[in-house]
Amino acid sequence: MTEKLYQSDPYLKEFAATVTKVEGDWVVLDRTVFYPGGGGQERDRGKLDGLQVTDVKGKEEISHQVPGHALAVGAKVKGELDWEYRYALMRAHTGEHLLFHSLSKRTELELVKISLSRERKVLIVKGHLDWDLVKDAVLEVNAIIAEGAAVRCQQVARGDMKEDGPRAKLDRISGDMVRVVSIGDHDSAACAGVHLGDAKEIGMLLVSKFTSAKPAGDWEIEFLVGPDAVSLAVDHTVRSLMLAERMGSLPRDSLTAFDNRERELVRAREALRTYGKLALSSLQPRQVGEWKLFSGSFSGLDRKLVMEKASEMVASGGAVAALICQDDRTFLVLACSGDMKLDCASLLNTLLSPHGGRGGGKSNFASGGTSGLVEPGVILDELVRLLKNQ
Ligand SMILES: [Zn+2]
Repeated sequence: MTEKLYQSDPYLKEFAATVTKVEGDWVVLDRTVFYPGGGGQERDRGKLDGLQVTDVKGKEEISHQVPGHALAVGAKVKGELDWEYRYALMRAHTGEHLLFHSLSKRTELELVKISLSRERKVLIVKGHLDWDLVKDAVLEVNAIIAEGAAVRCQQVARGDMKEDGPRAKLDRISGDMVRVVSIGDHDSAACAGVHLGDAKEIGMLLVSKFTSAKPAGDWEIEFLVGPDAVSLAVDHTVRSLMLAERMGSLPRDSLTAFDNRERELVRAREALRTYGKLALSSLQPRQVGEWKLFSGSFSGLDRKLVMEKASEMVASGGAVAALICQDDRTFLVLACSGDMKLDCASLLNTLLSPHGGRGGGKSNFASGGTSGLVEPGVILDELVRLLKNQ
């Protein structure tokens, strides 16, 4: 049995202990500050007699993996936590309890999984969630943090755990006693993790995103605490202000302004398609040698539409279509009727290669582009010259 110093004093950073068992790299101590992980909180990091502790495991007997140690049973050791790492996780864990509490007050949620590491703090839940709910819950959590709330850990007999009492999944807890962590009179939950003495020390909590987590749960909620939360809040605020400025709206109206822009864009795209179809349909062919040549250049038109129209133009026989789309580069579509002895793919590459472009396709249909913009007349004049020489 190892004395769990991390439970009796979560702020203990250094400790002295005696080795009670040795198995290869693994060392069991009579007492330890190293939390072996659990309840979503990652194991502690640190050193034992100056050597890195690379893993920690166990429930009653806590075992420390210390590669390279030369310890024997009875040896006295000194241990030291990576305190910055642990403190960040303590902040995250107490923060997670408050966040789940505030969310589940507003909507029926089931806690599926918690994962707290230095890099990422996540909780996976089942139930309904939206940004308005998240916003209200985060505001409440931060109000509790600002006011401060003492965190208490106590052992409660399994039989005394009430249905409407502390949050607990008793089927996942072994033993007769249940460790219950309470934050002021706000939240109370069964938990083996290491917590702060007061919620005030969280500093700030911010949900940074929530996304679908199916099939594990409905939502994966990511959050930050302390200085990380402050820095992201400031960053997001500035970006949101910059965005509102560009949209020409007040920050609180920027979502409506964005929706309006999006509708305008859809309307503009529809109009462009209508006029594009009209322009392509009214294209008249000219005779070049034995071919009826449909040619033209169009700015900003949908390439798929241009390709469809090129196929239609050559459907009647004896025709060649050379259509150019100009956007941020020059895109050429070359099509010819099935009865024509013309290799569109090779002709297209002959036309594009002097401009650093290329394409692909078949003998009666090919398309490709250049990396930059090319004057359409240059390509079309060259095509006419090549067709005349065929
Ligand atoms: Zn917990």
